[in-house]
Amino acid sequence: MPRERLIVIGGVAAGMSAASRARKRSPAMEIIVLEKGRHVSYGTCGLAYLISGQVARPDDLIVYPAEFFRTKRDIDVRLETEAVEIEPGHKTVHALARGTELLSLGYDKLVLSAGGAPAVEISGADLPGVFTCNDLAGTIRLCQFLEQEKPRRAVIVGSGYIGLEVAEAFRRRGLDVAVLERSGTVLEGVEPEIGERVEAALREQGVRLRKFANVSGIAADARGRAAAVAHDAGSEPAEIVVLSTGIVPRTALARAAGIAIGPTGAIAVDERMLTSAASIYAAGDCAETRHLVTGQPAYFPLGTTANKQGRVAGENAAGGRASFAGIVGTLVTKVFDLEFAKTGLNEVQARAAGFRPRRVTVQSHSRARYLNGKAILLTLVWDQPSGRLLGCQMLGAEGVAKRIDVAAMALHARLHIPEMLHLDLSYAPPFGPVWEAILVAANEAMKQQG
Ligand SMILES: Cc1cc2nc3c(=O)[nH]c(=O)nc-3n(C[C@H](O)[C@H](O)[C@H](O)COP(=O)(O)OP(=O)(O)OC[C@H]3O[C@@H](n4cnc5c(N)ncnc54)[C@H](O)[C@@H]3O)c2cc1C
Repeated sequence: MPRERLIVIGGVAAGMSAASRARKRSPAMEIIVLEKGRHVSYGTCGLAYLISGQVARPDDLIVYPAEFFRTKRDIDVRLETEAVEIEPGHKTVHALARGTELLSLGYDKLVLSAGGAPAVEISGADLPGVFTCNDLAGTIRLCQFLEQEKPRRAVIVGSGYIGLEVAEAFRRRGLDVAVLERSGTVLEGVEPEIGERVEAALREQGVRLRKFANVSGIAADARGRAAAVAHDAGSEPAEIVVLSTGIVPRTALARAAGIAIGPTGAIAVDERMLTSAASIYAAGDCAETRHLVTGQPAYFPLGTTANKQGRVAGENAAGGRASFAGIVGTLVTKVFDLEFAKTGLNEVQARAAGFRPRRVTVQSHSRARYLNGKAILLTLVWDQPSGRLLGCQMLGAEGVAKRIDVAAMALHARLHIPEMLHLDLSYAPPFGPVWEAILVAANEAMKQQG
């Protein structure tokens, strides 16, 4: 009897999690991973550290090479093989290997994990000297350009967390850095008082931030290379440009196959990661999820979600019954010497979602002040009528990244402010003040509740 066959399209976070989980669940299943690039299973989240030099070699980002999956996990990883069409009616995937060889592969189960693509709809985006920091191959090219051309002036388009990570990496390499942001704030969704401090930190680090600078195009020099970025308020000279203007889910294959796309523009899935097509699952940056605070479909492309969704898709594709309920929108990043973290909704998003939000901001410390505790700025958003916690943001030089997880947990548990007042959180002077920042904020919120 032929082995049941699982095909996975895309071999990074979601794809390799799905393939590995399916193999654990089913030793007998045939598993094929189609990856159009040359690498699988690498840490995309570490790409900016390759640019800064904190990660010495591209290979250091690779978790397991393709050969490991072939020999140790019996997973047939096919590099430089792009899926070009899915025929759900015939349970067949058509793929192009190394750009020439056309393959038609039947499947019993299929996992779509093709990720997201950088949004680069800017004229001049294809000029030499213009890059994205979205995958390993592209970031290796960017690093080679830095080594060979030794550019001095960099322009980063977009001030999301990836743009700011690249800004830091460039400053570490001694480049002059300008960041162009079309809106009035860095780190989309940040609360105003936290955003202001992030902007101050950027200025202190020598980054020129231009807000309300909607980019209209990239101009070339006489040699045809990127030389300036034109925007609403003028033009910024550049010898290297990095576009970090967001991620759009790769849905072309799914759309062409008639698979339903959700309201966010990503592939619609249920809790089992099943799409609208029988036997086809989707996971990671190509798929949407549910926001557990709003209850609505959401697109929140992060590695932490991609790994979990991939695992659930792989488990179910191999006959299991796993589910992924959704996310609360937790993100943490480093902006030079500061840690920024958020979870849930900010005040504006909460209002847009139909809540009647209130917000408090408190200042606390990472540990006892007499042990040189560093300031932590924390905002808490809750729903006034019900008292339900809706979101939390934090900024500080230390102790922020993991503190946010308490708030994320509280959102998952749908806690209300009164239930948070006396949470039994850990305390000893080297690790925090006796009143944890989130407890101080909950107390303040309680006072405002009356
Ligand atoms: C610089 C940077 C920093 C980040 N930092 C963090 C962080 O700190 N924390 C966090 O949680 N997340 C972070 N992320 C986000 C995280 O890396 C992504 O959410 C995650 O990589 C998504 O995994 P994925 O498997 O869904 O998609 P991807 O990693 O995009 O992989 C999809 C793969 O599918 C392949 N593919 C596409 N189409 C086809 C096709 N037709 N046929 C075959 N193969 C195909 C692509 O070549 C690609 O290799 C970061 C991302 C970047 C770029």
